[in-house]
Amino acid sequence: MKKIILGSDIDEVIFDMVPSFLSRLDEKYGIHSSIEDIVGQDIAKSLSVEEDKVYDAIMSVIGEGNYSLLTSSIIMPFIVEDHAVKNKIFLISSREPRFLKITKKELDKNFIDLNYELIFTNAGSKVDAVNKYNIDAFVEDDAETALDLLDKTNCFIFLFDKPWNRYIGEVDRLLRVRGWYDVGRIMSSGK
Ligand SMILES: [Mg+2]
Repeated sequence: MKKIILGSDIDEVIFDMVPSFLSRLDEKYGIHSSIEDIVGQDIAKSLSVEEDKVYDAIMSVIGEGNYSLLTSSIIMPFIVEDHAVKNKIFLISSREPRFLKITKKELDKNFIDLNYELIFTNAGSKVDAVNKYNIDAFVEDDAETALDLLDKTNCFIFLFDKPWNRYIGEVDRLLRVRGWYDVGRIMSSGK
């Protein structure tokens, strides 16, 4: 049986960045908001906040490190070690290149001995990387990226259910999941 080549996004599917970033917006600019307020692709627009404030809050939280893990991502290494999956995960992020070192540090701190390859895509395009590494299944939370992958690759997409991606429905090759437990269950069932 061919082993599945698995890829994943990082922010909001492995690290839980939004709560820290919303607290930062509150501390620095007095902007109170909750995750449920982020209902679309454009965070600034969803929260009615200036783009530079949103950018500043996101960048400062990423740059500082000490990220929180998304609860279900603790089982991600076990999925990577599953017999059905090729024993390595491609972590593909559209973070800025200056955050490569801190991202690697946080991954190594949280996932000891995880066999991963970290790829930062420029201009936010993950399509090229997914095609280059022949990734069969990709875990993502961003709606536009998911639609882009659906359109320009043959990979299967696990879309983590989040308030900001609920405007797109399930289609062939795209499944909405609650977290890594669903990903593991579906992968091991050999779907
Ligand atoms: Mg993400």
